[in-house]
Amino acid sequence: MHCSHLQLLLFAVMVVSVAGQDTSMKISTKPSGSQAAAAQLAWMKTSMARMETELVTKYGEPQRPWIQRGLRQVSEFWRAEDGDAGVFEDFVRTNFAGDAATLDTMFNRYQRLLEQLDGHMHEINREFSQQSDLDAGAVLSFDEIFAGYDPSAHVVDDFFSNKLAFIVLLNFPLTTLDQRLHDGPDWTRRQWAEVRLAQRFDKRIPADVNLAVSEAGAEAGQYIAQYNIWMHHVVDAQGQRLFPPKMRLLSHWNLRDEIKADYADPQNGLAKQRTIQQIMERIVTQSIPQVVVDNPGVDWNPYSNEVSPAAEKDSDAAKSTGLVTNTREPDTRYAVLLRTFVAAKKADPYSPTAPTLIDRRFDEDREIPEARVKAMLEQVLSSPLVAETAHLIQSRLGRPLEPFDVWYNGFRPGSKYTEAELDEIVAHKYPTAEAYQKDIPNLLMKLGFAPDRAQYVASNIIVDPARGSGHAMGAEMRSAKAHLRTRVEKTGMNYKGFNIAVHEMGHNVEQTFSLNDVDYTLLQGVPNTAFTEALAFVFQGHDLELLGLPAPDAKSQAEKTLNDFWGTYEIAGVGLVDMGVWHWMYDHPQARPEQLNDATVQIAKDVWNRYYAPVFHKKDVVLLGVYSHMIDAFLYLPDYSIGHMIAFQIEEQMKKAGAIGPEFERMAKMGRVTPDLWMVHATGRPVGPEALLEATQRALAASGGR
Ligand SMILES: [Zn+2]
Repeated sequence: MHCSHLQLLLFAVMVVSVAGQDTSMKISTKPSGSQAAAAQLAWMKTSMARMETELVTKYGEPQRPWIQRGLRQVSEFWRAEDGDAGVFEDFVRTNFAGDAATLDTMFNRYQRLLEQLDGHMHEINREFSQQSDLDAGAVLSFDEIFAGYDPSAHVVDDFFSNKLAFIVLLNFPLTTLDQRLHDGPDWTRRQWAEVRLAQRFDKRIPADVNLAVSEAGAEAGQYIAQYNIWMHHVVDAQGQRLFPPKMRLLSHWNLRDEIKADYADPQNGLAKQRTIQQIMERIVTQSIPQVVVDNPGVDWNPYSNEVSPAAEKDSDAAKSTGLVTNTREPDTRYAVLLRTFVAAKKADPYSPTAPTLIDRRFDEDREIPEARVKAMLEQVLSSPLVAETAHLIQSRLGRPLEPFDVWYNGFRPGSKYTEAELDEIVAHKYPTAEAYQKDIPNLLMKLGFAPDRAQYVASNIIVDPARGSGHAMGAEMRSAKAHLRTRVEKTGMNYKGFNIAVHEMGHNVEQTFSLNDVDYTLLQGVPNTAFTEALAFVFQGHDLELLGLPAPDAKSQAEKTLNDFWGTYEIAGVGLVDMGVWHWMYDHPQARPEQLNDATVQIAKDVWNRYYAPVFHKKDVVLLGVYSHMIDAFLYLPDYSIGHMIAFQIEEQMKKAGAIGPEFERMAKMGRVTPDLWMVHATGRPVGPEALLEATQRALAASGGR
């Protein structure tokens, strides 16, 4: 489900009270990273020593650790253009909050003003993209420029230039993930808010580096976006065409989804699936002929790898090529990936608390250490439930598993109602977006919210008619409202639209509680997007009951669980390959594309051989390397598995609690602390795969798989 969550500026830190009353926060005495080397100014050491003595004299010896910390944090980001020794010393003298009252005032004003900044920037963004987001008439050329413009893009740079960022760094603590994990559970809420405040300024990446990263990302996105295979031109040894004319499949998404769809084709399904697997493997190994990429002008046998001018024409998009040869794609896939690596690496020296992209992904974006993520993925991959589920799939298919069955899609929640029946019920109930808006309090009460809470939340949600399928857009300040974008046809809302609207409403309810009811707006939100998705899925899973229909039965729930488990098993291996490849690149920063090709193929085989070969009885399969995210998404893939685990944990907790409403509110008000701390508060356990595995075990028992 696509939901647009405003990309939050990263924030975070915690303050130990300057007056030193607060001892729960340990101060790190080691310099925080590699960056210092980037711009150590000749006068800095002397100035720091001078200011330390001066401030200790003024505020007293107990303040020394906070003074040292502030000086160190400022010095790590100070550049020549920020001023000479005199400017630095004046800045420190003027802006160090030497007593608790001053620090409180500083904290409160920063919190209030940053909420205003984020909130209004977000309002501008929302208004500017309104024409392209809503079903409101033609989108003209300039509308797209408005939609693409982000007025907040340079806020962090500006805050370093005008020194508002340095004031935060002088007074509030930067933290490492290790500190947030080990000390965080003992911090007060205020300390957490201070930690998040300082985190907003934990890196100062020069504009040219940011530009290089976004250009490399855009280039990779382009490469991926045009990587189509024209399926009618894929032929077998007899020259037969298995796929219909004009079928153009984007790698890897459409190729994978075609494998899933082909289970419904009893005649040619298996042959088609095997063919697509062959295509995918040639993409990963780059043995695919260059000339067949996005080109309906060439016929191709992916087994023999022979190519010839197309014997049939189904498109005008054929590329004019001279001689048709099967010269392979020259490792372009890996050259593109390497360029994203080289660009990402340029930011390393400017990110002292997370000096590699791998660190930034795990320590900052996910806030779960890489070693733990790896262990969680491996726990799913090596679970005995995999073999049991595989056995069940095999018996349903009536044949031994083949590697492409990692994308088996036969676990299907059944329904008493046809889609047409559901469409009719929904269209009758919700002829317009306004009808849905009016019904929100009622829907929330059905989910167990008390009448006053239902009214309160509903009054913070505005329903808009979406141009696309729908999305949720929360507010960023308390005076603004969350927007629920949903699609309503002329004949009224259909079931698919309703199902999505209920999901998006879940986001809006989370957004409302986690902004308006959290104790500090600096803690607004949830730890990461997996959490808001999990909360939205809780709502979505009850959509039938919201229509007054019976809930899915146990059999149907078991099918859904098995589908999620098999999907997690599949994507967990993909996540490990993504992680392995990024480590390899950091270990071989001078690598050439062909070397990265070899390494990726080897890593994909290793993960396969370890966790999949025992189930599929075939070794050295490279399919796990086919995901396009691997090329353009900067180590995003481990998120999917974690998302599934979190969804099950929250779902199980909701079942235990009974009523969703109060439990949902309790969870959402926790705000943006670490995932583990949030989850312990929500469920009593840290993030992990146990809930998923337990549910799978029950589902297998219910499906006769054991
Ligand atoms: Zn969503």
